[in-house]
Amino acid sequence: MSGIYVHIPFCRSKCGYCAFFSTAAISKYLPPFPEALAEEARQRNGELRSAPDTLYIGGGTPSLLSPDEIARVVTGVAEALDFDPSGLREFTIEANPDDVTPEKAEAWKALGVNRVSLGLQSLDDDELRIIGRRHSADGAVEAFGLLQSFFRNISVDLIFGLPGQTADSWLRSLRRALDLRPQHLSAYSLSFEERTRFTLMRDRGEIAEADERLSEGMYRSLAAMTREAGMEHYEISNFALPGFRSVHNSSYWTGAPYLGLGPAASSYDGHRRRRTNHPSIAAYLRRYGENAADTDCCGEEILTDEELIEEYVLTRLRTAEGIRTADFLSRFGERELQTLLRRAGRIKQSLLRRDADGMALTEEGFFVSDEVILDLI
Ligand code: SF4
Repeated sequence: MSGIYVHIPFCRSKCGYCAFFSTAAISKYLPPFPEALAEEARQRNGELRSAPDTLYIGGGTPSLLSPDEIARVVTGVAEALDFDPSGLREFTIEANPDDVTPEKAEAWKALGVNRVSLGLQSLDDDELRIIGRRHSADGAVEAFGLLQSFFRNISVDLIFGLPGQTADSWLRSLRRALDLRPQHLSAYSLSFEERTRFTLMRDRGEIAEADERLSEGMYRSLAAMTREAGMEHYEISNFALPGFRSVHNSSYWTGAPYLGLGPAASSYDGHRRRRTNHPSIAAYLRRYGENAADTDCCGEEILTDEELIEEYVLTRLRTAEGIRTADFLSRFGERELQTLLRRAGRIKQSLLRRDADGMALTEEGFFVSDEVILDLI
């Protein structure tokens, strides 16, 4: 199992909560970008040791690219890495509702896209305005309907704990999103990341973080309503109808290798080596654009044994399957297993379910996952 992630670092405007690397200087940087991506893929051909199973085009806002631009991205990368995009097990593109048109959906489908991740974030117009999204709730619902006539696998994103959001407005957004019958739902609690507009506003006292009890209540209703809708809660923030778990994202949680292309993209070799491209489009184009020069491209990190175990516990416990004893033993040995089991023994069974085969967070444990995972590592 291996995957490719392509980062498209362009957005028309910046949402208040967002810390992802992107720029609004589209006309300056977009024209040479698809060819630079292909050049990076050519230079790094060979890093992924098996043919990719998944391709994920994220960002930023990949959907703002025209059909011609996205085709240059996909064919450039696929030719450089020698794979057929239409033969992938999963090929996802992230889309903003206000970019979705029949022409774009058709172009994505023709390229081999078989899954679209649609960023709804909320289905309340006031909340959408506060977070700086350009679409309306009705516009998002319309975009979903349009995508349905092209794709059988659509994921939607929601955020809870937004400034001004109430338990009722969250329930209304969630209900309306589930009524669309998406195959997959990702729902995240708002976090205040460094250097975002929201963090600045919070520090100036203009907005407040959601009360912990309110957020917990929102998460509980999320778990209950997705269950009623027949979805599996297969990762802390992810829910899917049977057969529609995200293959690409699941590979991040199971330590599979992936190649990340584009500024700020990370790669992992499946063993110890992690590489992160510098978050600068100018530097990226100097390295991979026309007149490419051998300039500094990225940071690299080799994980220690301790970091490998921490990462393993951290990612596996985010999933419903949790940690399997036999797998942990074969990777880290008896001594580390005994340490893990000793620590696990001190955690309440209502939070961490244990049996001879392994351990996993309970639904209750998902609510306080950070604390449980910290206790384990
Ligand atoms: S949330 Fe998405 S659209 Fe908004 S700034 Fe971040 S990457 Fe761009």
